[in-house]
Amino acid sequence: MTKLKYERPVIKRLNAGLMNKFGTRTEYAPVTHIEGVSVRELIRNYGSPCFVISEKQIRKNYQQAVRAFKTRYPKVQFAWSYKTNYISAVCNIFHQEGSWAEVVSIFEYQKAIQNGVPPTKIIFNGPDKSNADLKLAVENNSLIHIDHFDELYELAELTTQLKKKARVAIRVNMDTGIYPIWDRFGFNYESGQAWNAVTKIMAGEYFELVGLHCHIGTFMLSTNAYAVAASKLSELALAIRNQYGKLIQYLDLGGGFPSTNTLKGAYLPGADTVPPVADFAEAITTTILNAGFKTDELPLLILESGRVLIDDAGYLLGSVIANKRLSDGRRATIMDFGVNILFTSFWYDHKITPAQEFSHQNEDMVLFGPLCMNIDVIRESVNLPLLHKGDQVVVHKVGAYNMTQWMQFIQMRPKVVLIDSQGITHVIRNNETIETIEALEQVPDYLKKFQL
Ligand SMILES: *Cc1c(COP(=O)(O)O)cnc(C)c1O
Repeated sequence: MTKLKYERPVIKRLNAGLMNKFGTRTEYAPVTHIEGVSVRELIRNYGSPCFVISEKQIRKNYQQAVRAFKTRYPKVQFAWSYKTNYISAVCNIFHQEGSWAEVVSIFEYQKAIQNGVPPTKIIFNGPDKSNADLKLAVENNSLIHIDHFDELYELAELTTQLKKKARVAIRVNMDTGIYPIWDRFGFNYESGQAWNAVTKIMAGEYFELVGLHCHIGTFMLSTNAYAVAASKLSELALAIRNQYGKLIQYLDLGGGFPSTNTLKGAYLPGADTVPPVADFAEAITTTILNAGFKTDELPLLILESGRVLIDDAGYLLGSVIANKRLSDGRRATIMDFGVNILFTSFWYDHKITPAQEFSHQNEDMVLFGPLCMNIDVIRESVNLPLLHKGDQVVVHKVGAYNMTQWMQFIQMRPKVVLIDSQGITHVIRNNETIETIEALEQVPDYLKKFQL
């Protein structure tokens, strides 16, 4: 038996912080392995900090989500939201599972093409598509989701010049009972703007209106909002059928399903409060099936889920740099990762577990990152066993929006490692170095020399 850890007793000032119904106890056991691979080994081989992604978990999440929809509705297609995590190896896992690509910039569009996605299976969303971007998408027969009238007119002009039809959908925004309404993207439903866009597209010579799209928000906790959205898109599709005799091929309900992370300020942990994908599937499919489509005219249902499919497949491993006492007596622990690479710590109380055995002494503490910036706080108050310099930790559910929104600020970005379904590790994105960063810079000759 290994010797138990001893902690010197300390007198603690009582900080009456927010309690939840579990009191302030720490509920975590050490997490020493991820998918059977030792955290210590991972850090030894790939450095600290580093991101780790479980391929097994991604495939499991994806298959469960697809099953939830396909058991309820005959025609379902997922399209991977590139901005959620566009590391190519990650995208390709989704593509191997059968997912199309959903992109919101020409950079993401090119990435999908380079990953080998057939251009006809790329959905091009977003408010910023240049004339050249639109031209490429039209020539490639990609699905162009029009965001605003200026884009519609530009596309009308472009397709007329090219004498080539564009496969288009419009993005629709609407009141789903969730406020504030996300009305900055697409055409508004209630005001008649969306119908107005439809009439212009139907009158255009070089448009084929293939779909209707919405993406009503992100980390949505209300399944009913999706029922409302599905109902409004269905009504629009049926109105187009009535007015023009035109069948809409697909309804795209976007993404936005929540992962099981805990939002800051939430009373209960996310895992206890977040509806499962099946509940969203039930709300959406029941609504479409009851909307009044003839059975053989039911539209394809497209989902663009991002965070719910990847968040819990991602981990961030890191180490303790130091401990200190703040002037008010609180314990502060400084980690080697900060908001620079863990952007989602602005929204979530990420679960953090020690990666080695610990003593039974615990304390409320602030977790700081390594940046020389006051904003670099990972957790404002978390009850953890006492951590010491060199101790390692695992941050959970970081797969969504961190490996795309991270920034190279003060520190360089670390490696991303994939654990495949056999438990073998692969570097899927290397760490930055001074060379990779300097490669983009140029110093004019006259600034090359100085004397101090
Ligand atoms: C970001 C985004 C998604 C994915 O959203 P999640 O909340 O991660 O599921 C899907 N569709 C569009 C248009 C988006 O902008």
